[in-house]
Amino acid sequence: MSAPQGSSEQSSTIDALLQETRRFPPSAEFTANANVRDPSVYQRAKDDPEGFWAEAANRLDWFQRWEKVLEWDAPWAKWYVGGKLNASYNAVDRHVKTWRRNKAAIIWEGEPGDSRVLTYRDLYREVNTFAAVLKELGVSKGDRVAFYMPMIPELAIGLLACARIGAPHTVIFGGFSSEALRDRCNDSGAKLVVTADGGWRRGNVVPLKDTTDAAVAETPTVEHVLVVQRVGPSVREVTMQEGRDIWYHEMAAKVGRKIIEPEPLDSEHPLYIMYTSGTTGKPKGQLHTTGGYLVGASLTHEWIFDLKEDDIYWCTADIGWVTGHSYIVYGPFTNGASVVMYEGAPDFPDKDRFWDIVEKYGVTILYTAPTSIRTFMRWGEQYPAMHDLSTLRVMGTVGEPINPEAWMWYNEHIGHGRAPIVDTWWQTETGMILITPLPGIVATKPGSGTFPFPGIEADILDEAGNPVPVNTGGNLVIKRPWPAMSRTIWGDPERYKRTYWERYPGLYLTGDGARRDEDGYYWLLGRVDDVLNVSGHRIGTMEVESALVSHPAVAEAAVIGASDPLTGQAIVAFVTPRSGQSPNDALQADLREHVVKHIGALARPKKIYFTTELPKTRSAKIMRRLLRDIAEGRVLGDTTTLLDPNIVSQIKEQYESTEG
Ligand code: ATP
Ligand code: MG
Repeated sequence: MSAPQGSSEQSSTIDALLQETRRFPPSAEFTANANVRDPSVYQRAKDDPEGFWAEAANRLDWFQRWEKVLEWDAPWAKWYVGGKLNASYNAVDRHVKTWRRNKAAIIWEGEPGDSRVLTYRDLYREVNTFAAVLKELGVSKGDRVAFYMPMIPELAIGLLACARIGAPHTVIFGGFSSEALRDRCNDSGAKLVVTADGGWRRGNVVPLKDTTDAAVAETPTVEHVLVVQRVGPSVREVTMQEGRDIWYHEMAAKVGRKIIEPEPLDSEHPLYIMYTSGTTGKPKGQLHTTGGYLVGASLTHEWIFDLKEDDIYWCTADIGWVTGHSYIVYGPFTNGASVVMYEGAPDFPDKDRFWDIVEKYGVTILYTAPTSIRTFMRWGEQYPAMHDLSTLRVMGTVGEPINPEAWMWYNEHIGHGRAPIVDTWWQTETGMILITPLPGIVATKPGSGTFPFPGIEADILDEAGNPVPVNTGGNLVIKRPWPAMSRTIWGDPERYKRTYWERYPGLYLTGDGARRDEDGYYWLLGRVDDVLNVSGHRIGTMEVESALVSHPAVAEAAVIGASDPLTGQAIVAFVTPRSGQSPNDALQADLREHVVKHIGALARPKKIYFTTELPKTRSAKIMRRLLRDIAEGRVLGDTTTLLDPNIVSQIKEQYESTEG
């Protein structure tokens, strides 16, 4: 690739053209009742971050109080040094000692329409039984337990049972292949795999046990496979290997009703390992520990979602992702929330399933992903319109930059203008949300994550390490440690150091590009690896995609830079039209001009390819690196985390046939 002239500073002209002018301040009524309504919290936390985090730690119950908030020997952090606590105790036991014992902890909906409600008292009983089963199977403090499960209550129960006895868990998303499961079991050295006889997805049974069998044939550390019965033998028979495989319900009956006292664990005791979703390369096993993580997850959950005692909270992520760990399990249960959990697909039996669930349980807080919102847009507003969504009062998004078009749709058709939207930026590595509005005090702008959370110091730096001017893209960094940060990459501390801490010594490199506008609002531009360089102008993939998606014919778009002898990189767009739109040359020409109108002639896509789907990870994030590989005629990089590998080969064929 020829090195284009110019610097990143030139991008300001382009970014400035995309200024979002709409603003959504919180209503006076919302602010009056908000958990956080005093904007001075930002300054207070800035003046004394350690004091801020020390105070935040009071929200937990400690068996032994910590002595020092932070020990920082970059990049190695220890939070709440000397403290002893237990995450399971904080998420369950302490609520059982109050009136919350009869409060719904889990409101679960199975895909076929079955449902279960577990109070905190029920959860306490189930977690104890599960912990007793783990002990019976020889799992003890420090042993790793892998979960490969459908979204059923036993998954949350199992994680809390592990936390209770100090056995770090690693959850592998139930949509992953046996190879992915095998690799993660081997990387973490798991002793036990917990799975199920199946899970429901779009009316079919996902054969989790069969996949597990294939995986554990090549995992020397795994001694047992614990199988939860979800679908039953009349739906799907599974083979149980004598001596290795155990039915959970049989073992649970055997141990009986037992209380396993929560182990007092060091603040820095490993709570779990979570692998990143693999959008940019080989997944990295992030190690999260107990005290700091729990403080970060629970505080952000309460403040950002404005959690109240009577809220019905639903995060639609899978527990197989970090979002599910922090914002289905650890944050919400530590806060004593009522948590909705749904097993299946959003379009089963029909495309209004999510809205049906919101209406059925009276969901008040909804947390979902931009990719889902764009899918709902594509399906049409008639589906949410079929249901009463008036209970919703706060709505969040996470996972990718949200384009203003999708933000507005979410605001209008789901929140009906009543519910503030919190666009939350964070990563598997960060453990907790780091950039987000606080809904009672921050006026939102569609597409902006607004500001770093109190106590979080972020910056945007150029290549030389200087803060970039207003509206100029650069590398997003975090300047001081925060309690829920990943402590290392499991088994590879060198990689941890190299990946995150060496580019700017002592600062955490997020790998994402961002800019700050004249009001100090943060705008995420996508991964730094994805940023385009056209004739020396740095253009965020996000900005071009956003312009494309604002065209009424477009449902989704992914943009990449392909080497170009003239401009360094040329913009190539992959576009999925909305249903009913036919992809043709006229539309292509129209889209090109649409981008020019929105951003400028520099951003005019050189080529536009129409696709029925975009390649996505199993966490539904667009994988631009594979599109780049296609455009550059390279061998495709790691595809093991892809949702549907067929899509890539289809796009590749189409690309090559038109390339001539
Ligand atoms: P890998 O690190 O293996 O490539 P990944 O980065 O996709 O995978 P995650 O940790 O699940 O794995 O995703 C974090 C990334 O998701 C962030 O770095 C960012 O690029 C994107 N992201 C998450 N939330 C937002 C948001 N609200 N706005 C913009 N981008 C977001
Ligand atoms: Mg990442």
